[in-house]
Parts: sequence; structure tokens; C-alpha cells
Amino acid sequence: MMRKHVKHGVSRVANQIVVRSDQYRTWTMADGNVWIDVPGLQRRQKIAIPLNTTVAPTGTLRLILRQGRVEVHYAIEATDLRETRPCGTIAIGIDKGYTEVLTDSDGVHHGDDLGTILRGESDYLMVKNARRAKIRSIADKAREIGDEAKADRIKKNNLGGVKRRRRQARFEPRVRTLTFTAVHSLIDKANHVIAEDLTRTFTSRKKLGRNTNRRLAAWTKGVTAEALHSVSERRGSALTLVNAAYTSQVAPCCRILGERAGERLHCTRCGEEWQADHAAAINVLERYGDPDISLWTPYTRVRQILQERADRLRTRLPVQDSSPSGRRANHPTRATTLKEAVFSQDAENAREQRSGPVG
Ligand SMILES: [Zn+2]
Repeated sequence: MMRKHVKHGVSRVANQIVVRSDQYRTWTMADGNVWIDVPGLQRRQKIAIPLNTTVAPTGTLRLILRQGRVEVHYAIEATDLRETRPCGTIAIGIDKGYTEVLTDSDGVHHGDDLGTILRGESDYLMVKNARRAKIRSIADKAREIGDEAKADRIKKNNLGGVKRRRRQARFEPRVRTLTFTAVHSLIDKANHVIAEDLTRTFTSRKKLGRNTNRRLAAWTKGVTAEALHSVSERRGSALTLVNAAYTSQVAPCCRILGERAGERLHCTRCGEEWQADHAAAINVLERYGDPDISLWTPYTRVRQILQERADRLRTRLPVQDSSPSGRRANHPTRATTLKEAVFSQDAENAREQRSGPVG
């Protein structure tokens, strides 16, 4: 999957090494501080590094040289960080949003500020990247006419990454904190979270292109997935991943495919207006324990199942709306809108192709 979707991974890391657990030694000095020694470039010569801690690192280390200081990074068991804050008592469905981190199946938003933060950063980056592109083209032109000195000067002074990385290093923790806080507040009320598998929906980097907004949104999706896994593990709540195909399009009131208009989802049968995120969260919750739709059911089959269920409901249940106009609208002519006509035609074709004629 990685080879197919993420092409040309490039590492610009040049300031760190990884030290295996059997290649360093730790000891404690009289003042209580820990030192480690790691292999140097000279044979049998080790380099001793004093740490500002009294707890010795264990396992594989990553040493990062940053502004003249050595940072020692190492992994610790998540179980050692177990939280004591109690979980809630209900099962809850969630939908990932972009104006907020999550919407749950009660219609409550968690992490409201996400949209503002993302929009601010996205707007900033768009202007900044455009200006950098302009400067880069000046440098390229200089190189073309043989003015190497000018091109190098621009590259060094105007197209560096120090400030950009510094800003990123401030931005990313803000989003992460917001996301983790949102997931914690969710687990304050639930001990079982039902969610769509946010890591499964790969979008190729090529398709994201230069659209900063979409790239940021895709990144926050990964952060949310990480937060759900990590917080569930630490607080001992359950996390179930379900198939999310069409969950944002089904109106929970009548279980038919509604009409989506921006943030709203309109039920074409009873006329109810849903907030799309809220409806999606309810549908995700209902996918848990759905006998026909598993995590691996292809989306074409999911659409077919939904259509079959809607058809069954339509023939068995009397029409609720008794107004003349309502009755006319609900008359089983199958196709009331163009969208629905195309849709049921597709389902018909799929049925024929996949399983032959249905009796
Ligand atoms: Zn409805």
C-alpha cells in the first residue's frame, strides 16, 4: 500500500542516530544524574554524555543533535502511562469533522477550535508557499543565465527551512493537544467508541497536490486515528472500527439515502433536516453489529444492501405522510429525482453483474 500510494519518500534528517540497546551503557553519578556512553567514530572509543535526569533510558535510543544539545529519545510502554480517570458508560458512534475534531452520535461536538486553527494555518501557508515559489523561480532564472552566486545566495538566505520548521513545530502540537483533549472528553462519556477506520482511506499525495487545506485535513485524520487508539488503550475503553461507506449520506430517520447540501442532509421521504456529521455518527454506531455489512464489505455492495433495505421498507410500511402532496411525492415510481434514478439503475446493473438475476 505504501509503495503504491506514497511515492518517493525523502528523508532530510541529518542530525540523528539510532543506538541499539546492547550498544550503550548507563550509570549514575554521585549527584544522582544519569550518564550514558555510546559508540564513537574511533574504534573502541566511547562518548560519554551527561543527562539531566535521574531515570536511565532503556531499549533502543534515538540521539538527536539539536542546537548543540543531545536529546535522548526512547520508547516507553503505553501501559506504564495508564490513566485512572474513569470512562463513561455508554457506546457511542463518532464522525471525524474538519470544523471540529469529532461529532458523536448524540450530536455533541468535541474539539470545536480545529477549523479555526486549520484555516489560519492553511491561509498562512498558501500565501507563504506562493511567495517562495516566486523567489525560487528568480533563483532558477539566475542559474539558467549562469549567475550561480546569486542562485546560491537566494537558496541560502530566502529559501531555507529553519523558520518553516520552527512554525510547524509550534503548530502540530497545538492540533495534537486539541485532538487528544477532544478524544478524552468523548471517553469521559463513553466506554465503547465506534468509529470509521481513519487510517484505511489512503489518498495519494499526487491527488492532494498543492492544496494545503486538503493536505492539512488528511494529516489531522491521522492524528485523530492515533488519539483514538492511544487514549482507548490508556483508559481501558473499547474501540471498534466499522465500515463507513455511505454513513454520511443515509438519513437516520428513514434509513434512505438523503440529499446532501453542504453541512445539511435532507431526508427525501419525511423531510427531516439532519446535520451531516451527526447523522454520520448515528449511522456509524448502527453499523456496529450490522449482520450484512462488515468492515471489509466493498462499498458497491454496501450501496446495494442499503437500497434493498429501503425498498423492503417502502413496500411493507404504509406511507406516514397523509397530505396529498406528500402522498404524490412518496408514490412508488421508484425514481423521484434524477440522482435516485441513476442510483437505482446502478444498483440494478451491479446486481446483475455480481450475482445474476435476483428472484
Ligand atoms: Zn426521514
